[in-house]
Amino acid sequence: MADRARAAAGVSAPGSGALAAHLERLIAIQGPLTVAQFMAEALLHPRHGTYMRANPIGLAGDFTTAPEISQMFGELIGLWCADCWQKLGAPGHVQLVELGPGRGTLMVDALRAAAMVPPFRAALRVHLVEVSPVMRALQRAALDGIANPPPVRWHDRLAELPDGPMLLIANEFFDALPIHQFLATPEGWRERMIAAADTGFRFVRAPGPTPAAALLRRGCPTDQPGAIAEVCPAGLAAARDIAARVLAGPGAALIIDFGGRDPRGDSWQAVRRHRRHDVLADPGNADLAAQVDFGALALAAAAAGAAVHGPIAQGVFLDALGIGMRAAALADRGDKARSKAVHLAHHRLTAPGEMGEHFKVLAITDPDMPACAGFDSP
Ligand code: SAH
Repeated sequence: MADRARAAAGVSAPGSGALAAHLERLIAIQGPLTVAQFMAEALLHPRHGTYMRANPIGLAGDFTTAPEISQMFGELIGLWCADCWQKLGAPGHVQLVELGPGRGTLMVDALRAAAMVPPFRAALRVHLVEVSPVMRALQRAALDGIANPPPVRWHDRLAELPDGPMLLIANEFFDALPIHQFLATPEGWRERMIAAADTGFRFVRAPGPTPAAALLRRGCPTDQPGAIAEVCPAGLAAARDIAARVLAGPGAALIIDFGGRDPRGDSWQAVRRHRRHDVLADPGNADLAAQVDFGALALAAAAAGAAVHGPIAQGVFLDALGIGMRAAALADRGDKARSKAVHLAHHRLTAPGEMGEHFKVLAITDPDMPACAGFDSP
């Protein structure tokens, strides 16, 4: 099947091993790769990358995300956007941007909820930032299926978005951006690289300083030899771009992801068929992700002049937006099995020890906008 036909059908190309062979060739030519190079190739290589070959999201894929767990997630985010739109002075046209929209589920649910505020729904122009043709085809199918679809445009990069008032959503987008890893050594931080061995890929240490080390935050001492620290230049650049856009737009952005405030520790992980997997085994056939350093994103956005709210726990955010009431209403409407499923989804999305705690929410807004919903509770 041609790549394009495969993409439209959302099915996998024969990828197994092809990406590993490509990475081995790269290493033979240029020497060991940074973790960021390895991750970028594994996820986004045009033919063999995990996101480019097939849809990895959902029960049949590698991992599940909050919008796939329950419609409540996207609906509440749609209402959060409607509230921000009002606080921005209800502009006649507003871009609703989503970074890495996956199967398009969050956007469909958000648009359905947005219909509760008809002038907001009418003002929306949807812009999706997505590199994968497989995922784009799924997003198009999801949006074609709704009543009265808004105008939709796709972009490869944030920089392609037009100027103007903007509401932006990024759920589990930043965790897919390539990270660099560093090891604490007596000589200072040294980058963790990936070499090829007969038995597969293995970690090696860069012999001297490498450029990405300049991005390590101050207060990140090398006092524990062997400790690991991470930086995500693509994430910092995106946070700065988003900040500039919410200032100029004006606008507001909501970033939701798994992570915390501390850049220390090895958070790089691979997930395949819903199970943890070795990060170096079988690249291109597993999802690779790293925890998002929300502290670094907040600093980058604030340095660009935007207002920053949070990060707060996803459970706290969704509770403040009224997920309890929405869950009760949905559970009342269904039979016993449906009601149980709604309660279970509510628990997974909000409970401590679940996504409610492990996932965080950060808002980046125009400083002239009144405080946004969800961030004002103690
Ligand atoms: N937000 C969705 C999907 C998360 S998976 C959800 O919550 O279900 C990450 C998504 O980002 C996928 O659609 C993937 O194809 C896309 N993606 C990953 N890296 C990207 C990049 N650098 N630029 C644009 N899209 C990217």
